Amino acid sequence: MSHFQRPTGTLDILPEEQPYWRHVRAHATRLAERAGFERLDVPVFESTDLFARGIGTGTDIVEKEMYTFCDKGDNSLTLRPEFTAGVVRAYIENGMHVRPQPVKLYSTGPIFRYERPQAGRYRQHTQFNLEILGAQDPAADLEIMLLIADIYAGLGFENLSFQLNSTGCPACKPGYVAILQDYYQHYRDQVCDDCQRRLEQNPLRVLDCKAEQCQPIIANAPHIVEHLCDECRGHFALLREYLDLLKRPYKLNHRLVRGLDYYTKTVFEVWAGGIGAQSAVCGGGRYDGLAQALDGPPTPGVGVAAGLERIILVMKAQGVKVPPLPAPAVFVACVGEKARPAAVQLTDELRQAGVATWLAFEQRGLRSQMREANKRGASYTVILGEDELARGVGAVRNMHSGEQATVDLAELTAWIQHRTAA
Ligand SMILES: [Zn+2]
Ligand SMILES: [Zn+2]
Repeated sequence: MSHFQRPTGTLDILPEEQPYWRHVRAHATRLAERAGFERLDVPVFESTDLFARGIGTGTDIVEKEMYTFCDKGDNSLTLRPEFTAGVVRAYIENGMHVRPQPVKLYSTGPIFRYERPQAGRYRQHTQFNLEILGAQDPAADLEIMLLIADIYAGLGFENLSFQLNSTGCPACKPGYVAILQDYYQHYRDQVCDDCQRRLEQNPLRVLDCKAEQCQPIIANAPHIVEHLCDECRGHFALLREYLDLLKRPYKLNHRLVRGLDYYTKTVFEVWAGGIGAQSAVCGGGRYDGLAQALDGPPTPGVGVAAGLERIILVMKAQGVKVPPLPAPAVFVACVGEKARPAAVQLTDELRQAGVATWLAFEQRGLRSQMREANKRGASYTVILGEDELARGVGAVRNMHSGEQATVDLAELTAWIQHRTAA
């Protein structure tokens, strides 16, 4: 055994796992493109400043979880810990705000966070990310929510519902924050150390504290939705109307916050049942202040990200079947050293003709090659021996029926192509 092991919190995705990955990616892509989303690829690393500014310096991600390094040019770079900051940076840098708005974008690939590894959560993990930029309409929030929920539904997730909250805007959020801080004044001595700090730096985050001692205080805390300005209240009411209209179940969750200044209005989580209790599978929200925070033009935006490792973990636990990777149509077996050049040539001809072909390597007995052909799942096996070559033919066995035919070598490729065409 080599002493080299993959780093803690990373994953090798083996060939036998790939059918899940292919299926999940293809499904998510199909649904996103059907809703008019276009793919955007952004770099795996960006300048550290982008994430510090785009995610916020008071957050766990920026303070504790980023993979930050100095390159040889002495630039501070960070492996992306999420997609949104890079996507909005690309939108601004490439002048996408002058295109017809909104711009709908999907991205997929690895993100990196130094977290405590647990089931379905990795330090390098793969996200499927959706963003709508340049639309203030609550129908955009709805579209993001429905699309991600439909992606989960199509992969076998059941009992999907939303948890929903609004976190206001620069006009109404500061007023609520003051009310919240005022309420917490009475409990200064009772809240956990983290919350003491949050009350100064990131007050909304006290609402999603998990510490036992903070729970009764959170339970009686004032609700932000009761302190929204007219615009935010109207936006939230319309979104809820749409959800009611489409009979999509949701629950108001006053504790649901994304405690960053540029997060505005809608925040949501998708919850699923199935295995164990109902739990959150992904979350997203609106960030109308982000583009400006990154020195871009004011641009409303809303987005969501889903973790693919966790999706696949749940699919497996629930026994969801996915289409297997395609097996070779033809296995080329060859008996005797003299038949080998003809086997190599036939293999090339078949592949040039678009037929998925597997060539047996090394000199082995026919029986062992037939066993391999079975194991590889080939539909046909072509057997080339010295006898056949002398007659200018190949023996072709249908691996399902066991029938065998003799076919002229000159016609063999066309013969097989005709029978294996999809
Ligand atoms: Zn507001
Ligand atoms: Zn707390």
